[in-house]
Amino acid sequence: MSKFRNFKMVDYVIYGRGSFNQLDEILSPNRKGDSPMIFLVDHFFEGKTLPGRIPLQGKDKIIFADVTNEPKTTYVDKISQELKDEFGTVSGLIGIGGGSAMDLAKAVSLMMTNPGSSADYQGWDLVKFPGVYKAGIPTLSGTGAEVSRTTVLTGPVRKLGMNSDFTPFNQIVLDPELVANVPKNQRFYTGMDCYIHCIESLQGTYLNEFSKSYGDKALDLCQEIFLEKDSWDDDSDDKLMMASYAGGMSIAYSQVGVAHAVSYGLSFLLGTRHGVGNCIVMDHLEEYYPQGTAEFKRMVEKNEVEIPKGICYGLTDEEFDKMIDVSLGMKPLWENALGKDWEKIMTRTKLRELYEKL
Ligand code: NAD
Ligand code: ZN
Repeated sequence: MSKFRNFKMVDYVIYGRGSFNQLDEILSPNRKGDSPMIFLVDHFFEGKTLPGRIPLQGKDKIIFADVTNEPKTTYVDKISQELKDEFGTVSGLIGIGGGSAMDLAKAVSLMMTNPGSSADYQGWDLVKFPGVYKAGIPTLSGTGAEVSRTTVLTGPVRKLGMNSDFTPFNQIVLDPELVANVPKNQRFYTGMDCYIHCIESLQGTYLNEFSKSYGDKALDLCQEIFLEKDSWDDDSDDKLMMASYAGGMSIAYSQVGVAHAVSYGLSFLLGTRHGVGNCIVMDHLEEYYPQGTAEFKRMVEKNEVEIPKGICYGLTDEEFDKMIDVSLGMKPLWENALGKDWEKIMTRTKLRELYEKL
């Protein structure tokens, strides 16, 4: 394998309050004849004003994405098959929502041109053909899904992304007006995903100056908005949106670590959502990230949010084993966190003890 990754980035970025209003002119050059643009909109916005602001033309269609659960390969396959049946081909997919809606749009775009099931492409560089045009418009800040080269899907056998150079968006629209009014707990959980990306990247053995530069900036922004400011305001939304972007750029060239590796086990077995799952784990990582964990606890207290406790209480040995298998399978995350000899440090017994605390 080559020593340095040559990574594909998002093609176009627009940032600013009200930038969503430029969507029509942004999409126009990317329309192919009368093939429609498909807007995959987080179902939270059904019946709200946002869908009315979407610049629909011709056969364009809004699909409200059911994100009750995080995206599954079966759901991606269903949407892409229905679009093929209805339109043959489409001009593009526009994902509007949190990490789930954005990931769905990426995956459906890829499945419009790649044969088989999205489950066939869970892994690294398995996608064969570029998808159709795709744009991401976050309405929740933190995951970094807007910049990443993956789309995280739960499939029949694994929870794993379609990681490829064809996965990043062609366009992202970062409009902080769209994240106004996210409920406090959700905003915190997804915001902490960004904070945790920073800690895991900055404390990881894969760190390099590229990742550090972005990680340092994102961490500063998180500290300012979650610890230093007295109350949440528009400026906080502006900053968290950029923190998410920078945090995503930081892990693009490094890797996440212990919180993510352990949290993947929770979400696979218990369906725990990504943001809150990371928070549940981060609450117990003094041994690995002493400063980050202490600061995380101060953020929880200052922002007056609840981190669920006792979610592994009463699980069977088989269930613990399943989570441990999933977690230990995330080898690059462990290697980044603990170094080449991570297997000597993170034994099954030790990981079981950690899960039992959650
Ligand atoms: P989410 O997209 O799962 O949404 C969480 C909840 O917030 C949903 O109920 C949604 O309807 C609601 N919501 C969205 N926007 C809202 C708004 N403006 N106001 C009120 N409610 C709103 O949450 P998330 O934390 O953004 O994303 C998590 C997902 O992202 C997971 O599926 C995870 O696997 C994925 N993820 C992907 C990457 C990547 O690089 N591709 C990285 C991290 C996480
Ligand atoms: Zn994350």
